[in-house]
Amino acid sequence: RIGACVRESATVARLGGDDFIVILAEPDEVGRADALTQNILRELAEPFRLESEVIYLSASIGITLYPHDAAGMEELIKNAEQAMYAAKNAGRNRFSYFTQSMQQAAQTRLRLVNDLRSALAGGQFRVYYQPIVELAAGRIHKAEALIRWQHPARGLINPAEFISLAEETGLITGIGDWVFREAAHQAKQWRASHDPEFQISVNESPVQFYGDGSTCQTWPAYLRELGLPGQGLVIEITEGLLLEANPGVRDKLLLFRDAGIQISLDDFGTGYSSLSYLQKFDIDYLKIDQSFTRNLEPGSSSMALSEAIIMMAHSLGMKVIAEGVETEAQRALLAAAGCDYGQGYLFSRPVPAEKFEELLKGVST
Ligand code: C2E
Ligand code: MG
Ligand code: MG
Repeated sequence: RIGACVRESATVARLGGDDFIVILAEPDEVGRADALTQNILRELAEPFRLESEVIYLSASIGITLYPHDAAGMEELIKNAEQAMYAAKNAGRNRFSYFTQSMQQAAQTRLRLVNDLRSALAGGQFRVYYQPIVELAAGRIHKAEALIRWQHPARGLINPAEFISLAEETGLITGIGDWVFREAAHQAKQWRASHDPEFQISVNESPVQFYGDGSTCQTWPAYLRELGLPGQGLVIEITEGLLLEANPGVRDKLLLFRDAGIQISLDDFGTGYSSLSYLQKFDIDYLKIDQSFTRNLEPGSSSMALSEAIIMMAHSLGMKVIAEGVETEAQRALLAAAGCDYGQGYLFSRPVPAEKFEELLKGVST
């Protein structure tokens, strides 16, 4: 079918698997690449009859131009592949041209992955702490640990830029272990110096729960060795993790529970909020996502949802933490709705441990 869409002079080849290449050799065909590609997409979308079965396919096509985009064969194929991924990401069954910014994005990514491999051994990660404030009394006896990457050339990098790379490469396991241990030491210290109940929450990526590489089952033993009761830590997970019917996930959550470590459900309300898992799993805290807090106003739908989340959580025996509290008005609305804790720039941005200690000194406990 692909061959029937182009002239005799074109080359149609199978690269491997479900990858095909079309080389258009005639100058006038290049000008008609859009129309030709549409034609191929249309042809492939027609059902294929294989004996008694009918198969439906769609294609994603990447286009690169010689000599404009590249001069060599390998580079041209790489370009076309990148453009093809762009078409896939945009929803499949479409085509996309290779652009310079695609190339730059791919190169930046590659460099960042390379740097990430040596960042842990190079001591380039930092843990920042953001207070979680008890709304009724204004007390701070909880904090969230948030990782930062002090890159030697690029400066401080936020997790949004590198966590997904760490997940794809599996580096998240080592990094997550490190954050857990840092937070455990810090919790021990602040329980001694500030508040015997002080608690630090640590974000855990779903990848850390899966597979043989998973190391979180060693954490309870680590806490015993350190002499920190499990109550000193909370693990933050997201809704997506609970939806996957993965027995390993349940086992690990139970392991944490047995060690006294509490569980917090992060970004609540943004995923597939299936309420049945709130019954199936022991969850201690719900964190109302920033997107609700941002739009809090009397009578708004965010207000109604937040109130409903708070009521539901309380009747199921969970505490509620509102994320992204930036204004006094938001704090007051949440407090009036009975929300237990707030976290956000109104109280403090995430800060290094030394700064956090100054914060603790400034607040009566
Ligand atoms: P998260 O767990 O939902 O953390 C809250 C994020 O909201 C943090 O971003 C925090 O700095 C930001 N934030 C706090 N208060 C406010 C506010 O008032 N306004 C606004 N606009 N933002 C606020 P951050 O530190 O950049 O972290 C982003 C995400 O990266 C985290 O979202 C978490 O999912 C992930 N992450 C951070 N540290 C780790 C880690 O050690 N391991 C893993 N697996 N993920 C991490
Ligand atoms: Mg979190
Ligand atoms: Mg969150």
